[in-house]
This record gives sequence, C-alpha cells and structure tokens, in this order.
Amino acid sequence: MIIDSHCHAGKGDGLTGPWDTAAPLGKYLHRAEAAQIDRTVLFAAFHSDYAVANREVARIVASNPRRFYGFAFVHALHDRGHVFNLIKTAVQRYGFCGIKVHRYDARITREICAAARAFALPVLYDVMGEVSIIELLATEYPDVNFIIPHLGSFADDWKAQQACIDPLARHANIYTDTSGIRRFDLLEQAVDRAGAHKILFGSDGPWLHPGVELAKVYVLNLSATDRALMLSDNFLRLIAGVKTQPIGLVQRPIGSLHAQRVMADPWVMDQSSA
Ligand SMILES: [Zn+2]
Repeated sequence: MIIDSHCHAGKGDGLTGPWDTAAPLGKYLHRAEAAQIDRTVLFAAFHSDYAVANREVARIVASNPRRFYGFAFVHALHDRGHVFNLIKTAVQRYGFCGIKVHRYDARITREICAAARAFALPVLYDVMGEVSIIELLATEYPDVNFIIPHLGSFADDWKAQQACIDPLARHANIYTDTSGIRRFDLLEQAVDRAGAHKILFGSDGPWLHPGVELAKVYVLNLSATDRALMLSDNFLRLIAGVKTQPIGLVQRPIGSLHAQRVMADPWVMDQSSA
C-alpha cells in the first residue's frame, strides 16, 4: 500500500500564490492513480480561518473516506484559546487524525502540543528552516510525534536540512517526510542516519507531482521492509493511537503569546536591530 502523507486540498482565501489560493485535486488524483498511490492525507491550503478551511477538507475526505485521511490545520495565533475545540471538532466530527501547523502563520505553541497530546495526534509542523525548535518539541513533548516536513525546509535551505538530520536520528518522536526535498544526498543521508522508520513518503500535492516525488523513494533502493515503512507503515503507526475521547487533564492554553513574539535568545544581540 502507498499512502501520500502530505497533500493540500480545498480553497484558500488569499490571492498571493497557489499556496493560499487553491489546491484542486483533479490532476493530482489522476497522477496519484498512475503512480499507484492508494490513499492520501489531506489538509488545507493557507487560510485566514482554519475552522472554515478544515470544514471544506472534511467534506472532501467524507466524499471518499477510504481514499482520504484529514489533518486539522491550526493557526497558533489566530486560533489561540480555541485550539482544543478546533481539534476536538476535527477528530470527533470529521474523523481527522493529525494536526498541521505552519510557522509562516505563527510558531507552534504549547497549546497546540497539549491538544495533540490529549488526542494522541501526530503534528506536522513546517519549521521553515528554524530547526532549533525540534530539540525543544522532542524533549518537552516526548509522547507527541512530530513530522517535520521537507527535512526542515521547503526552500532547499541546505544548512537547515543538514541540521535537521541530527535531531531526526536522536529523538524517537521526530519524523520527516520526503515532500519537496530536492537534494537527494540529504534524503539518502537522513535514511542512513535516522532510519527508514523515521521518514514518511509525502508529495506536497497538488502543487508537486506525486509520481515525481514517489520516484525519489524508489531510487533509494531500500529493502522491501524499509520501503514499506516509508510508503505507508510509518504513517499508519503514527495514527494508530488516535483518541476520540481526550486523555489526561485538558490544560488551560498556556504559552500562546510565545507565537507572536520574535523568538530570540535574550543573551544574543540581534544584529539586524543593532
Ligand atoms: Zn505542504
């Protein structure tokens, strides 16, 4: 079985580029079928109201629930104080099985991590090159699984991707996906050092071609077992424990202000503002 663990769907409400405008699945589904991709994980494009965007993704997932999984997109700032309820709706009403957060919106917060913990959901967090956060996520939330897509940078930031491999290899709860990784040697190194059990096949469809992205996994020349881990087993393992009834104490949202501050080391002078 092949599961594409990273694909966008639905309309954005922006008009900047495809990422916040529209993620139509028409061509994607033909391409995925030709590449023998069986199932796809869907989440929204950038949107100013993720309650609306998640509902649209839920409709698409519901149109073919054997073909699609859904992740709830949340905005760490706009949704602060409401993350738990957004996630609860997504899990209980939509049957979603993960959370998507993008640093372009705002940095991930404890509020989001606590909600992920309560429902035992994996969190796909695009760090946009800010790989230092991975160490904190891994150690503060060792019981939450994080997927850091694109090996930490969709923008081919070699330094960031290189630096992402170390925490990927050291922390059991840190994963990455193959989507958009262009420097093949880095992907190969990630597999060698962290292991195939830490890397998920994802395409970043519909904007990237799922067949092209899938080809990268095949040319890694993995054992059949390792290939199966990347193509589906890792993802299935990550969502196997999802709880529709939250576990543990539901924390008051804490630390949500963190997302709007410029994250700086107070002892290091910011050269740009000096
Ligand atoms: Zn994406």
